[in-house]
Amino acid sequence: MPVATETRWKLNPFLHIDEDRVYNPLTDRSVVRGDAAWAQVRQFIDSGDGDESLERDGWIVRNDADLSTASRLKIVSLETMTTCNQKCYFCPVSIAPRDDYSMPDALFENIVEQLTEYRDTLESVFLQSYNEPTLDRRFVPFVRTLFAADLPVAVLSNGSGFTPAKVDALIEGGGLATSASISRRSIASATRRNAAPIISRSCFAISITSKTSRSLSR
Ligand code: SF4
Repeated sequence: MPVATETRWKLNPFLHIDEDRVYNPLTDRSVVRGDAAWAQVRQFIDSGDGDESLERDGWIVRNDADLSTASRLKIVSLETMTTCNQKCYFCPVSIAPRDDYSMPDALFENIVEQLTEYRDTLESVFLQSYNEPTLDRRFVPFVRTLFAADLPVAVLSNGSGFTPAKVDALIEGGGLATSASISRRSIASATRRNAAPIISRSCFAISITSKTSRSLSR
């Protein structure tokens, strides 16, 4: 028999509640209409009736629960330098570029060490924020450091710094999740510099590294 819950539990305030789906970002789980737990979760939402199983699965929490530090780390954006070689019109870099600055190696290693505690929940460690990560002369060593720490590396790049040598080194390291956005301006510039073979090789290699992301290569 359901326990009167008004004084014991409340709905987990982190839940994303839609008509046909309830998602809990702290457990990265969702229930949809038709799932076994759907009726139970909906019942609590509608009437406040629930039991320990809902609390165990994170849908409800004790009224006095302290959730101020609750979190789940899935995506990391680790910007190792501020430099970018583009001025994409939609990006803050185009109107407010920052002075060049590189993260000290020791800080990078310290952050990687801290991230290893989150291996179970991490889906991607991006080496990028508002910069072009492949311009960093330490790009390949940094990727190798993340590989060695068994962290899921991902790169968003405008593709301009993916030299054949860098791509070969990354493929050799096992490949990584990569997304390349190559602007028309980059291609036009490369064409002017007669660098089309490099762009072509990089695109080809990026495709390979995407297909051999670490989750597939194991
Ligand atoms: S390449 Fe990326 S970081 Fe650089 S200006 Fe374009 S969107 Fe911004």
